[in-house]
Formats: sequence, structure tokens, C-alpha cells
Amino acid sequence: MRSIGIVGGGHAGLQLGIGLRQRGYAVTIVTDRAPDDVRNGRIMSSQGMQRTALQHERSLGLAFWDDIAPKHDFIEFSLGGDDGQRAVHWRAPVPSPGNSVCQRVKVPRWTEEFVSLGGTLEVRPAGIEDIEALTRKHDLVIVAAGKGEIAKLFERDAARSPYDKPMRALALTYVAGMEPTHPSRGVTFNAMPGVGEYFVMPAVTTTGECEIMVFEGLPGGPMDCWADVKNPAAHLQRSKEILQKFFPWEAARCQRIELTESNGTLAGRFPPVVRKPVGVLPSGSLVLGIADVVMLNDPLTGQGSNNASKFAHHYLERIVLRGAAPFDRDWMENTFESYWNERGKLTAEWSNRLLLPPGPPMQAILHAAEHNPVIARHFVECFDDPPRFFPWLFDMGAAEGLFGPLQQAA
Ligand SMILES: Cc1cc2nc3c(=O)[nH]c(=O)nc-3n(C[C@H](O)[C@H](O)[C@H](O)COP(=O)(O)OP(=O)(O)OC[C@H]3O[C@@H](n4cnc5c(N)ncnc54)[C@H](O)[C@@H]3O)c2cc1C
Repeated sequence: MRSIGIVGGGHAGLQLGIGLRQRGYAVTIVTDRAPDDVRNGRIMSSQGMQRTALQHERSLGLAFWDDIAPKHDFIEFSLGGDDGQRAVHWRAPVPSPGNSVCQRVKVPRWTEEFVSLGGTLEVRPAGIEDIEALTRKHDLVIVAAGKGEIAKLFERDAARSPYDKPMRALALTYVAGMEPTHPSRGVTFNAMPGVGEYFVMPAVTTTGECEIMVFEGLPGGPMDCWADVKNPAAHLQRSKEILQKFFPWEAARCQRIELTESNGTLAGRFPPVVRKPVGVLPSGSLVLGIADVVMLNDPLTGQGSNNASKFAHHYLERIVLRGAAPFDRDWMENTFESYWNERGKLTAEWSNRLLLPPGPPMQAILHAAEHNPVIARHFVECFDDPPRFFPWLFDMGAAEGLFGPLQQAA
């Protein structure tokens, strides 16, 4: 029986580990937090997911929340104008509903599933020595440690990483009591030029249903305002103030919001980065990176969990296809590069471009979508598979070839 070691029992590590167990591989996951620590810990993400990534989870029997988590039936877009009100506003249905299951719910449940399938779980932070030991015992070691320090074992790929500093000041606020969207539930995304973006989605968390408020402030701008927030109540208050000031149409939904619980807040920032897929240990042994370890996007485009699922699906297929042949450097590089070429490259590029002010084609498209449901629908559909945004979202000729003449936005 071939054996695989995985460092990090988060989204990608668990999905891959469970898939491998289901196919008869011996799998050890070393992760730094026990399921109860995750369950009772701080929120980590907004983890909004779409069709393809959810399908990969379903194909492994892991969609335990399909009937519980509120469905995301649409994506709505609003652009703030000079008068502080909405200058653009449209909504389009998604072809297949998305959802958000709090990682504090998903990760512990998947960990139990992994163990019940006979996987070996070791709870401790893995350092270099641990990873060396794993490589001696397993045919392949995959590092799925997300934003953990150990990811630095993988060299930054400067040619694929256009930014060397954080592009947004991030904050999350999990709340109950928000007025739901009508007539169905969905993700509302709002942008205010010079300030940043705010999006909100329904989700299921440890306390039941909630809404997740996601703040993406331009660094140094008025929404980069979390440094003096010292406690959860102040975090909630700051969240409300931001809405009053910059997104008043969203504030109207928030008259009665309260935090789901004291761990329902998060603030931080990190630069998006792509890393080389193969890490070399002091002994010369090689390990392969997956998901956030090798392709960390800003959450603005909500791709990280989707990407973790798609990565895990891809690596699972490649491992199984490899049969009994060695997992050598060529195989590792090809495994990552085939993912990169198929979807990683354009997903990262799309995500990185959206961190900059929109160019004329995107502005024209976002405005036109208000009056043209075909454009709105196409825009929303592409979220599931970001390479489909190319080239039209960034190329006026291609956009007009697809949708007909577009007016330049004023
Ligand atoms: C504010 C915010 C909002 C987001 N919103 C969305 C969204 O709406 N949609 C979306 O698709 N994505 C979103 N993401 C991104 C998404 O959460 C991540 O991309 C995804 O969780 C990555 O999965 P992963 O398996 O690579 O890492 P993780 O899920 O982070 O798992 C890594 C695991 O490794 C463990 N670990 C770390 N170091 C070690 C070590 N040395 N030894 C052992 N274990 C270790 C960690 O504790 C963790 O359990 C968001 C992220 C943030 C920060």
C-alpha cells in the first residue's frame, strides 16, 4: 500500500487525505490543532464556495451541509458613486447555488471522517525535523499548511507574484440578525472607489446560520481602520460605522446585527504570493506544496477555498494515475504545472488584477451589466471558473465581440 504524509489538516489537506483513504492509500496527517481547538477557536475565512469546488467535495461524500447551509442563489454587484450612493447596481443568478460552511464546522467534521476511514492523525505543529521524519516513512509528503510559517520552505516565485506587500486590509465579522436579501439568499458585493470593497454572504457556523461581513480596505485608506480595535464589541461597532459611511445601502440591513460569538471577528493582511511547488529539506528530500502554500490569493475574489478543493481534486487524480511509479521532482513539478496551466495561472492573474482599479473594459462591462442581463449572468457564471473571464474582462475588443458595442463608463 502506498503511503502519503500530509502536513496541515485544513481544507486541502483533509479533502486530499480523505480522497486517498477512500482509494486505499495509507495516509498520515500532521496538523497543529485538534478538532475541538478548531471548533472553539477564532473564525478563519468567509469560505464562500461555488459549483465546481462543491462538486469535488460531493464526489467524496463530504457535502454534509448541502441541506443545512443557506444557498447562494445569486451574486449582486454595487458600485458606489461620488454622492456616496449606488451608481451601479445589478444582480444575476448563479447557475448552481454556492454556499459557505464555516471552517470551524467543516474542518472538525472532515477530521472525524478522515479518522473514521482509518487515516492517522497526529496533532502537533510540524517543523522541519517532523517533515524530514515524514519523508522517511512515506512515499510522498504534501505540505498543506496554508498561511502557516512552514510555507516559507517553498521559494517565492517572483515571476508569478506581482505584489510584495498586502493589497488590502482585511476584516471579517460574523453576525446574526442581519436582514436577509430578498427574494432569495445570495452574495452581495460592493465596491467604493478609493476606499475598498465590502461583501456579505449567508453561511452556517458553530452557532447556526449567520451572515459573514468581509471588509477589504485599500491599505492606508479610510477602511484600513482596524489597528485600534481592541475587543469584539469594538470590532462590531467599527463594522457598522464602515457601512454607514461607505455602503449605506448595506447599513440598512444591519440595524439589529450582533456578533455570533466573541470568536466571530478577524482582522489582518497578507500579500498574495505564488511559490515554487517543490520544497527541498536540509536532507535533500523533496516535498510538494498545495493550495495556499503555493498559491495564496487575496480573499477579494473569494477563490482560496475553491482553489483548495480544486487543487485537492487534481492532486488526488495525479497521485492515483501515478500508480507505483516514484513521486520524483519531475512528477511533482508536472503535477503543479498542469494545475497552474489549466486554471491556477489565470485564477491568480484575475484575482491580482481585481486588486487594481478597473480598466476601461471592466468599467464598461460592470456598467452595461445593469441594463443587460446577458452580461450580468455571464459575469456571475465565470466566478466558478475564473479563466473564463479572459480575455473579455480586460480587452474591449473581446468584450464587444462577445456582447456587442459597449459604452465607455464616464
Ligand atoms: C479573510 C478571508 C476571507 C476568505 N474568504 C474566502 C471565500 O469567501 N472564498 C474562498 O474560496 N476562500 C476564501 N478565503 C481563503 C480560504 O480560506 C483559504 O484559501 C483556504 O482555507 C486554504 O486552504 P488550505 O488547505 O490551503 O489552508 P488552510 O485551510 O488554512 O489549512 C491549513 C492547515 O494547516 C495547519 N498548519 C499550519 N501550519 C502547520 C504546521 N507547521 N504543522 C501542522 N499544521 C499546520 C493550519 O492550522 C490549518 O489547519 C478567505 C481567506 C481569508 C483570510
